[in-house]
Amino acid sequence: MSAPKDTIVVGAGPVGCVLALVLQRRGMGVSVYEKRGDMRAAGAAAGRSINLVLTARGLRALAILGLEQEVLALTTPVFGRMMHSVSGELTYTAYGKDDGERNYSVSRGELNIALLNAVEAAKIPIHFEHALERADLSATDSVALHFERPGGPLEVHTSRAFGADGAASALRTSLLEHVEGECLTEMLPDGYKELLFPAVSDGTYAMSERALHIWPRGREMLMGLPNRDGSFTGTLYMPIEGEVSFAAISDVASAQALFEASYPDAIPLLGPEFAKELVEAPLGRLGTVRCFPWVLEDRVLLAGDAAHPIVPFFGQGLNCGFEDVAILAGLLEEGGELGAVFAAYQAARKPAGDAIREMALENFVEMSDRVGDPAFILKKRVEARIEQALAPLYRTRYTMVVYSSIPYHKAQEAGRIQERILSELCEGISAPEEVDLTRAAALVAQHLTPFVEAEGLDLTF
Ligand SMILES: Cc1cc2nc3c(=O)[nH]c(=O)nc-3n(C[C@H](O)[C@H](O)[C@H](O)COP(=O)(O)OP(=O)(O)OC[C@H]3O[C@@H](n4cnc5c(N)ncnc54)[C@H](O)[C@@H]3O)c2cc1C
Repeated sequence: MSAPKDTIVVGAGPVGCVLALVLQRRGMGVSVYEKRGDMRAAGAAAGRSINLVLTARGLRALAILGLEQEVLALTTPVFGRMMHSVSGELTYTAYGKDDGERNYSVSRGELNIALLNAVEAAKIPIHFEHALERADLSATDSVALHFERPGGPLEVHTSRAFGADGAASALRTSLLEHVEGECLTEMLPDGYKELLFPAVSDGTYAMSERALHIWPRGREMLMGLPNRDGSFTGTLYMPIEGEVSFAAISDVASAQALFEASYPDAIPLLGPEFAKELVEAPLGRLGTVRCFPWVLEDRVLLAGDAAHPIVPFFGQGLNCGFEDVAILAGLLEEGGELGAVFAAYQAARKPAGDAIREMALENFVEMSDRVGDPAFILKKRVEARIEQALAPLYRTRYTMVVYSSIPYHKAQEAGRIQERILSELCEGISAPEEVDLTRAAALVAQHLTPFVEAEGLDLTF
């Protein structure tokens, strides 16, 4: 049992809140330090138009804390993807084998507020407007945290510091200055801007709210995710510079022209001022960080985006962060010396973090470009047929990543084997009905099942 307040979580984002609750349950005296002010003061406006997708993987961490139902009540279930072609044709693909395999769209602000309330209800102090500037790790048994705050700088000593301070983590920077490690930051040449599809006047949805809407256009892509109030949050992903880019739509006329050419069916669903809103919206940057280590003895541990910032194209960044906490909770439950627990956490999560980082990057190409490629569509439809015929011996990589608790890197490896099987089965056919299911079963038994069995993967989720 730790002395009161000898454990500090830096960052009161979703991962920091869940982490603080888990650590307190293990008997640690926790306090949280957060750079921003209390977002609850801004009320519902805190996160109205910005949302993300929670999936079964992330929800498991919330279930450990008994928060799953409370958070689910804030969500809109989404059952598949709706592709919009330039001519307005719609193609729907379900995410999983049935409606039970679904994702949940949630406002980031509402989610964070619910988790802040849970932290407060657990009587964990949250120090808002305390920005970690750096950590001094030179002592062997403690950590000195240097914060900037409105009243002036503050130095706090603690036995251990957990970094949940997001993609630009200050604790990560200090850790990597203290130990020899690696830190590779890769920025995409693409950025994103958010824009709102308002609810129709009677409060209903202008498009099917059961789907994530995607307008794939090669190097650019528009996405729409439903909110509970009948609106959708749109996100436009595009290169920052170049012929078709955010730089090229810096005024209302060019933004309007882009939508007329590429997203004509979206225009009537957006507000009358959408082009102006788009021009004025802040430009978000997209990047990944691959770093090591994530822990220092029993004194420092990184989780969530602080450990593994990834691009958002698998919708797994936060889900992965919540899973970090779930895995750590399981290891703490098993007991043992804390330094060994931290090392086991790192050994389990680092390969998983690397794998989802790579898969999220690949998914950008898949979502923005390949979804329109006939060979790719055929492969996906053949795969759906094989899954239907052979499940649970064959589950798609997407379902393994999103609905199972199979480690991301094992799902990635299984996906590589599946790619080879699918390429072989798609040779010389032009429709999914032509695929030879007997041969499919033989290839799965020969190549995939031995891997699944050797790794002990459970495909019956
Ligand atoms: C466009 C976009 C779409 C996305 N969609 C999805 C999705 O659909 N599904 C999904 O799972 N993920 C998605 N993500 C990723 C997801 O947003 C992140 O993975 C998630 O927010 C990480 O949570 P976190 O708590 O680790 O970090 P954050 O949410 O970044 O929270 C970090 C907290 O730390 C605070 N902080 C930062 N620096 C300091 C400091 N120096 N001192 C003290 N406090 C500090 C911040 O103010 C913040 O409160 C998306 C990301 C983007 C950009």
